[in-house]
Amino acid sequence: MKIHESDARAIFTRFGLPVPPSRLVADPRAAEAAAEELGCPVVVKAQVLVGGRGKAGGVKLASSPREAGEKAGTILGMEIKGLAVEKVLVARAVDIVKEFYAAMVFDRVTRRPMMMVSPSGGVDIEEVARTAPERILKLPLNPEGGLMPFQTRRLTSFLTGDRAVAKQIGAVLQALYDAFMGVDASLAEINPLVLSQDGTVWAIDAKINIDDNGLFRHPEIEALRDTADEDPGETAAREAGLSFVKLDGSIGCVVNGAGLAMATMDMIKHYGAEPANFLDIGGSSSPDKVLAAMRIILRDPSVKAILINIFGGITRCDDVAMGLIEAKKRLGLDVPLVVRLTGTNAREAGELLAGTDLIGAETMDEAVKGAIAAARG
Ligand code: GDP
Ligand code: MN
Repeated sequence: MKIHESDARAIFTRFGLPVPPSRLVADPRAAEAAAEELGCPVVVKAQVLVGGRGKAGGVKLASSPREAGEKAGTILGMEIKGLAVEKVLVARAVDIVKEFYAAMVFDRVTRRPMMMVSPSGGVDIEEVARTAPERILKLPLNPEGGLMPFQTRRLTSFLTGDRAVAKQIGAVLQALYDAFMGVDASLAEINPLVLSQDGTVWAIDAKINIDDNGLFRHPEIEALRDTADEDPGETAAREAGLSFVKLDGSIGCVVNGAGLAMATMDMIKHYGAEPANFLDIGGSSSPDKVLAAMRIILRDPSVKAILINIFGGITRCDDVAMGLIEAKKRLGLDVPLVVRLTGTNAREAGELLAGTDLIGAETMDEAVKGAIAAARG
């Protein structure tokens, strides 16, 4: 789950990172008051869940409260990468001498938390990785011991030769590590981490993604969720306890189990069509879940046929069949439905579906081909 910069700043502050004071506001007048209170110059920053706000014109410096109000007015009217700016952060500005990059991520290769730093901060790190990979130092860490002093020295000396600055950055990296582990983040990034004119180090941007699997341990973070950047179908699916990802094709899929869902999508592609979504209705599916799944898939106008592929283990095929009949009745389905139900209570399911106009299929192969043919009309 992504969270806004203002929330990530609050987490950073809680873990002892040096973050300039700021106020979150929703109108120019409040921005002006915040600038007055914080002292100018300030920086006015769009709060949207995408990167590259600076380049898009969503980050502007202001040298007086009046100017802060004007800049806030401009930014609040903007749309950045399709997202309307509803709030801006007004932060005390830093007089920047140098910009660094620092982040904690998970490294899938070493299967460890990893710290990444670069003396080329303030720019897109993917760009640095592509054009000057030697400017990035990546250090996998042992979660048992955390960030060790010798590792901190390696990281800081990669960034600067100045001992006073290195000492401050060392403390920042330790706090960054603590914050990353402490909130179950999948990413905690400071870009840029800056050295100011007076020799102090500041985190002037904050990005944290929380690992969805750790969210149950942080209800206060779950409460920060902003659904504006989620596909509405994905929001509805999460609320219904379904795992759903919208894709661009025309074949809607209702499948139980992530592995079977992947295999189903592969087979659709194998036969030359494209799935409209990934959807796992889960291991023990009730008619209600099936109904919710159908409702979510039908929101997507590009869906031309729906493929139901269920392997009944704990899931009972007759439960799924009942959900489908219910969906037919309640949702006024007008796209063709191709159904393959096998396993527990498949025979009962077959009897339930006998009188309907759903297209039955015996095998997965047959079902996928049938759905593609139906989608092509
Ligand atoms: P992003 O573009 O979404 O990553 O937003 P950032 O918060 O990183 O801001 C973009 C850029 O604006 C930074 O790289 C800085 O160059 C500049 N910027 C942000 N805050 C300040 C500040 O306090 N002082 C100065 N001088 N520049 C800033
Ligand atoms: Mn940034």
